[in-house]
Amino acid sequence: MVLGLLDRGWEGTVWWIDTGAEMPESVLYVRMFYERILRPRGVRMWVIRPRLQGLALPEYCEAKRLVPLAWRRWCTVGYKVLPGTRLASEYNVEPHEQALGINAGEKRRMRERWYPLVEWGWDKRRCIDEIRAHGLPVPIKSRCWCCPFQRVREWRYIWSVHPGLWERAVAMEENSRPPTNSGRPGSREHLTFDPHGRFTLRELGERFAGRRARVDMIVSDAEEAAGCGGTQSGECVAEVAPAILRHYQYRFGGSGAGLVAEVQVDGEE
Ligand code: SF4
Repeated sequence: MVLGLLDRGWEGTVWWIDTGAEMPESVLYVRMFYERILRPRGVRMWVIRPRLQGLALPEYCEAKRLVPLAWRRWCTVGYKVLPGTRLASEYNVEPHEQALGINAGEKRRMRERWYPLVEWGWDKRRCIDEIRAHGLPVPIKSRCWCCPFQRVREWRYIWSVHPGLWERAVAMEENSRPPTNSGRPGSREHLTFDPHGRFTLRELGERFAGRRARVDMIVSDAEEAAGCGGTQSGECVAEVAPAILRHYQYRFGGSGAGLVAEVQVDGEE
């Protein structure tokens, strides 16, 4: 969407909300996008880091003995919708000035905002073509590594490529409290990322362990998606992390609902 807007002469600021659980590939991709596309054009990007009771999403889940729940969406509201709404209100950005990247195949998700991709008729396929036409690698699906909407193959990707995050997600699930809605089908002794309680991550990991052969292939896909070319992913992180940390940080907004957003503004001291 941003590429299309820039090609049409749009001027504005790009906001990216980082829940603290974004996939490492997405963090790297956003950084790469900023360096290759936005910075050369003088476009500012804000990385917004919302906090509930001072905690990023994974730490909040661990402290409250919760997991993100597909049937409650409390994480979306607390870490995406509220911070975005509050930031827009803080900076007097009207809804029709807020461009959201819902594509033409997802019209059902439209609300009172500006949806350029729908306006242009760009579906997911067209977005991928445009990204490639601009000489960029196609990113992985943006999501939290502890997202309950992940499919089994996406959990498998985390198990394969990010064992540390996988272990943390397993521990998060096992540390969670019993479901209060005992009427839900397949309820277990603790909450499960799977909305129907059909499996726990530990059970899923045991299934994955029998099919280890595909791991190398998935790892190389991940590096390509992150725009790392032939480098090792560790080198890529080492190169990018200092640039991320350089950014100016400040806090904004009240804390009526225990919500504080940490906003990073590029290029300001
Ligand atoms: S990506 Fe998933 S876990 Fe993250 S905020 Fe959205 S619904 Fe919640």
